[in-house]
Amino acid sequence: MRDFSDDHRWLSINTATVRQQRGEDWPLLQILDACAARGIRAISPWRDQVQAAGLAAVSRAVKAHGLELSGYCRGGMFTYSDAAGRQAARDDNLRALDEACELNAACLVLVVGGLPGALGGKPAHKDIADARRQVADGIAELLDDARQRNMKLAIEPLHPMYAADRACINTIEQALDVCDAVDPVQSGAIGVAVDVYHVWWDPKLRSQIERAGGKRLHAFHVCDWLLPTTDLLNDRGMMGDGVIDIAQIRGWVEAQGFAGYSEVEIFSTGNWWQRDGGEVLDTCIERHRRCV
Ligand code: ZN
Repeated sequence: MRDFSDDHRWLSINTATVRQQRGEDWPLLQILDACAARGIRAISPWRDQVQAAGLAAVSRAVKAHGLELSGYCRGGMFTYSDAAGRQAARDDNLRALDEACELNAACLVLVVGGLPGALGGKPAHKDIADARRQVADGIAELLDDARQRNMKLAIEPLHPMYAADRACINTIEQALDVCDAVDPVQSGAIGVAVDVYHVWWDPKLRSQIERAGGKRLHAFHVCDWLLPTTDLLNDRGMMGDGVIDIAQIRGWVEAQGFAGYSEVEIFSTGNWWQRDGGEVLDTCIERHRRCV
């Protein structure tokens, strides 16, 4: 297992971690400058942040700073209730793929969607099995497009508390079942993003990481699970402040040959988003060395 205790070469910042500081959006180009100034070598930006800054400008800044993208957030949201919804999801995922290619991302992260309409508060039905079928079909279709562009797909299982509205793939096992179905030869074109926040509790975590193997471990996201957690979405903890044994999980991932970035991804309305962005980045560096 790699020793991170005295450098942060393998730290990546998911830019949602510093997307809004003290109530104001921190523009992506400034985030990139702040990361580069601290010797942070990789980022994972969100599409809305890229759109606000302009894809071409972000691409130029990434190259100028010599940054890498540990992933691109995000594609997915495959579920639909009518033909127009299906087409809209497909079009949006193709755009996400093209953006990921332009930015030379390591992978396009897929948050697959829940019951159609649920994210907006009006689920079209209660048939989660049907939603899961749509997800599997959508991923199979997108994989062809991703292969043509030489862009890897990473299915990110989300904690089951998000099954209704954000992702009906909730364990690594489920994600790997989809990978097996669409890519039985395990080419590496599709794999998983292991986010400790979503999967730390899973009794099968270690065995499913072993099942994934190096070819299907495309991304590793870190933060911590706070006690108590006061908001399902936006109360993620800084590494070291909660109950996840992050180093143990990193050890399992690296034992399979994963040698990429540990991507810090913290949504924190009440705490980290209330602080100075530079302070947050400095804390990420320090905790990455000590707690990841
Ligand atoms: Zn994540």
